[in-house]
Amino acid sequence: MFERVCLVHYHELGLKGRNRAVFEHRLVDNLKAVLSPYAVSDVRRISGHLLVEVTSEEQIEDIAALIRQTPGVARCSVGWRTARTMDDINRAAALALAGCEPCASFKVIARRSNTDFPIDSMQLNRDVGSYLHEVAPDKAIIMRDPDAKVHVDVVQGSAYVYAESDPGVGGLPVGSSGKVCCLLSGGIDSPVATWRLMRRGAVAVGVHFSGRPETSASSEEIVDQLADALAPAAGLGRVYVVPFGSYQRQIAATCDPDLRVILYRRLMFAVAERIARIEHAKALATGESLGQVASQTLDNIAAVDQVVSMPVLRPLIGNDKQEIIAEARKLRTYDISVQDHADCCTLFMPRNPETHARLDRVLEAWEALPHDEWVERILDEVEWRTYPCPAYRPPRRWRQPVRTSADVQAAEG
Ligand code: ATP
Ligand code: MG
Repeated sequence: MFERVCLVHYHELGLKGRNRAVFEHRLVDNLKAVLSPYAVSDVRRISGHLLVEVTSEEQIEDIAALIRQTPGVARCSVGWRTARTMDDINRAAALALAGCEPCASFKVIARRSNTDFPIDSMQLNRDVGSYLHEVAPDKAIIMRDPDAKVHVDVVQGSAYVYAESDPGVGGLPVGSSGKVCCLLSGGIDSPVATWRLMRRGAVAVGVHFSGRPETSASSEEIVDQLADALAPAAGLGRVYVVPFGSYQRQIAATCDPDLRVILYRRLMFAVAERIARIEHAKALATGESLGQVASQTLDNIAAVDQVVSMPVLRPLIGNDKQEIIAEARKLRTYDISVQDHADCCTLFMPRNPETHARLDRVLEAWEALPHDEWVERILDEVEWRTYPCPAYRPPRRWRQPVRTSADVQAAEG
């Protein structure tokens, strides 16, 4: 027996009792979904970590890279599963060490978790160590801070040998922190905010407001691409698209120009909150960062937040644009976001948008709009796409996986 495996390690801090089992099950389900297109025969728990059985040598590095991108993964090691013979264990250890170049020193960390194996952990350390020293005499065995650590775990029925270990994204498995409705524009910031919440274990449901029919659907295409970039982490449940242009036109036609943007945003939040309630999501999230643009002053944030009663999370509030861009590049969303597209926020944009809105003025303008009626109508007009996410349950009201504009038109008769 000589098989390729990935060993998945997670932080165990705060994972006690029932919590731990829930966490592990989530991570197993999520990894199964993430790895379903790949040559993986099983994902399961073994003594304190997860084991991914890989059936293709060529795919193992890609598989390890995907595992490391999955929320909840602290580290991932590629290695071997072998029979419990010193021959196999030694051979795997030599391969593992050879995979760690450049490397001038190593140590063996052996663990026998089953006493039906005749050699104890200390002896295993010595035996595997001296074998490795024979095949790689140029490398020193040192106990303190060696370049490579060759792990040998002997469990019931087999042994696991690995050395190469790289950090994962950390965080918590998606599904361990509830559901959040993330306002997803085609911009740079909101996909990063959405990713950060997924990384903390939230199931993300995107809500995108498109300027359609006043603008083209180009922002929707961007959001589709962003969703495809975020979806492989198995944390994105669904993306709702709201054709919003005609409501913006009506706001622009009747309200003071300087308040337009705030009123658009209040309507966005009101709609997103209704979608969140239908989805049983417990919070909204945006990609705002304090003072980044005119609408992101404390006064304006307060004037918009006042329309909803659920928490609005802003994971980027203290980040500079450069930091957000660096994160977007790592996520591979940056190049998608910077493509030219119609942004509904700039539709009917006044020359001087209000930067420090007075709540009494905003409320007066808001109450003059038929906002409750609009929100109800908009809920009948939303479209969506559902993504592979084991922790996502679609709401009862909107069970079908996809609704397109043609479906909406057909329903309106
Ligand atoms: P982003 O890069 O995320 O678009 P931004 O710096 O362009 O952010 P704004 O356009 O003011 O800033 O948007 C602030 C936040 O409001 C966005 O991060 C997003 O969460 C939400 N938002 C803005 N426009 C839309 C939209 N058309 N659909 C959904 N959410 C939006
Ligand atoms: Mg924007």
